[in-house]
Formats: sequence, C-alpha cells, structure tokens
Amino acid sequence: MNNNKKKNKEEKILVTRSSMPSIEEYMEELRSVWDSRYLTNMGVKHEELKEALKAYLKVDNIELFTNGHNAIELSLQAFALKGEVITTPFTFASTTHAIVRCGLKPVFCDINPKDYTMDPGRIRELITDRTCAILPVHVYGNICRVDEIDRIAKEYGLKVIYDAAHAFGESLDGRGIGTFGDASCYSFHATKVFHTIEGGAVCFGNREKAFGEMLYLLKDFGISRENNVEAVGTNAKLNEFCAVMGLCNLRHIAEEIARRKKVSERYDRNLQGIPGLTLRKAQPGLTMNYGYYPILFNKEIFGLSRDEAAEILSANGIFARKYFYPTTNAFDCYRGIFDPAETPVAKQISEQVLTLPLFADLPLEEVDRICSIIINRG
Ligand SMILES: *Cc1c(COP(=O)(O)O)cnc(C)c1O
Repeated sequence: MNNNKKKNKEEKILVTRSSMPSIEEYMEELRSVWDSRYLTNMGVKHEELKEALKAYLKVDNIELFTNGHNAIELSLQAFALKGEVITTPFTFASTTHAIVRCGLKPVFCDINPKDYTMDPGRIRELITDRTCAILPVHVYGNICRVDEIDRIAKEYGLKVIYDAAHAFGESLDGRGIGTFGDASCYSFHATKVFHTIEGGAVCFGNREKAFGEMLYLLKDFGISRENNVEAVGTNAKLNEFCAVMGLCNLRHIAEEIARRKKVSERYDRNLQGIPGLTLRKAQPGLTMNYGYYPILFNKEIFGLSRDEAAEILSANGIFARKYFYPTTNAFDCYRGIFDPAETPVAKQISEQVLTLPLFADLPLEEVDRICSIIINRG
C-alpha cells in the first residue's frame, strides 16, 4: 500500500515541490539546538539566520517571523497606520487580508499588463486625505516600478511597504530588492524559492530603527525587555527548527536558483514565439530568482483558454495553478465591498494566466512533455 501511494504521488506533477537539504545536513545543524533545549524565542539559530540573510539579501536590517503574512500585518501595525492603503488586487489573499485585518481599507490600483505589478500611473488618482501607505507586490519576482512609486510616496508623505514574497534574493542593478520603500516583507513558506518550512521576514533601512524595535516587540506579545508590556502584540516568533531549515537551505540557494533557471529557460525555448501565448519578459537590470513560470493564454489566437489548458494538463497528471485567480477584490468574503470591475487589467490577466510547474528538480524532459501537451492540446 505504501508503495502504491508513493507511486501515485510520483506520477503527478504539482506546480511546486519544496527543496530540502539532506536529512543528515539538517540533523547536524539541529544537534546543538537539541542539546541546548532552547527551541524558540530568538535562539542561536534564529540569530545566525538573521545575519546570514542580511548578507545574502543585501539589506541593513531584518526581523524574522512565523510566516510572510504576519510580516505584512505586523509591518502595518508597527507603522501605526490608519485609513486607506493603495494596493493591488493581483496578489495572494495574504496581502489584502493583512490590510483588512489591521482595520485599514484597501484601495485597489490596477496593474500594468507588461509585468503585472501596480501601475504607478494610476496611483495619484486614488490618493485621498485618508491615504496612509502604498502596498505593492513584486509579482512572480517582477519588480515594481520602484522609482516612480517612491517619487509619489515622497510627494504625498506615504509609507511604502513592499510585499516581496516572490522576490527572495533578487536585486536591481546590484541593489537588494529589500532595500526599496520603507519596508519589504518576505515569505519563507515551503513553496517559495527559499523556505524555513513556514517563515517570513521584514527588511528595512537604518532610518527605520523605531519601526524595527516595534516589530520585535509585536512578534512577542509586545513584551519589552524590561518585562513591561508596551504594545498589543501577537505571537509571531520563528522557532529554531525552522531557522535551522533556513540555514541549510540558504547554503544551497545559488544551486537552487541555477536549476530553476534551467527549467525556466527550457520553457522559454519550447513556448516562445507561439501566437496567443504570452511569456514573462525579463526586466532590465533585474537578477531573477525564477520562482514562477506564468504564461497568458489568448483564446482567440491560441485556440485554448487558460481554463481549457489547465484542464488538459490536469487530465495528464500535471497540476498547474491559476495564480492569481480570482483577483483579491473578487473574493467571496469581499462581495459587495470591493468591485473587481474597477481593476479591469488585473481581472483580465487573472483570467488568462496559468503558472506552470517549476521547481529545482523538475526534469527537463518533463518540461518538454508539459509544453508538448499545451502545444498539441493533449
Ligand atoms: C506566500 C505569499 C504571502 C504569504 O506568505 P506566507 O508565508 O504564506 O504567510 C504573501 N504574499 C504573497 C504575494 C505570497 O506569495
């Protein structure tokens, strides 16, 4: 039975597959934690991971969290924001939910059809006297128009918090992505390019020292080092077992990204130039992490809609993902509150996009097979 189970699993190709160190490497890194019995609350491995990530991400400061979602929520809380936050509906549920759960109002800005990030040309018209911040997302690792967003934010005195969950390790003209805006939030979820099983981080500059101290308080119930409780915090501390996974995975990150690049380039080779399929375009100056492989299906030209393509793939045991679909402003829980028709570009892209399986050990022959199923409609 065990064998059968295993076999069935291997026949399917899921959109992603977590990268792992060898169990020996993990156990070796874990040994001192086991011996010390210090399992969480900013332990030795937590601190080691912080330092290692600071260097790798080329950022000044970093705080670690239980997950990327808490990183976003606690950033909003630590800046003590009130009012409206301009954001994108073309994202994972987390981004919008974080804003709402902090008692803030998301105001949705449409995206640009080239890289699916927030269209800065539409931000100004959404700014009111209640606007306090902009929360853009580096979608699929495509980097937002950081300069234009920065200019607008400065002009109106707004905070900029990037959802950088898709942008781990990326840099723009050599500058770490986490250094743009006032803060950048990363996710280290098991499905991401780099993971700590569950985990997340906020990166910020040296001028945001008070913000960093508040983040630290908030993730530990607001309990200050003097045994005072200074803020209404929560529990969002990254434990030592997760930090150890992070230390191991970070050792192999260059290889992880290189292998993803090979897979991604194989898709490019097979799919580019096919009328009706739109592939992502490289952005000038960007060092990519190859986290996702999104393609757009234009039914009129290609003959297959995104939904039809997804169905054909799944009939062949290949599970691509409609990511992001629907846009967050079309979620059931927001019905009657937000109107997806206000962001028509995001709506259209969300109906055309499919992210294809992409992980480091996806064999290139499987990439060829996936592409041939798409091209030959079965
Ligand atoms: C994964 C993800 C998050 C949430 O991160 P978790 O670690 O799963 O909480 C937020 N935003 C985006 C865009 C993501 O992809």
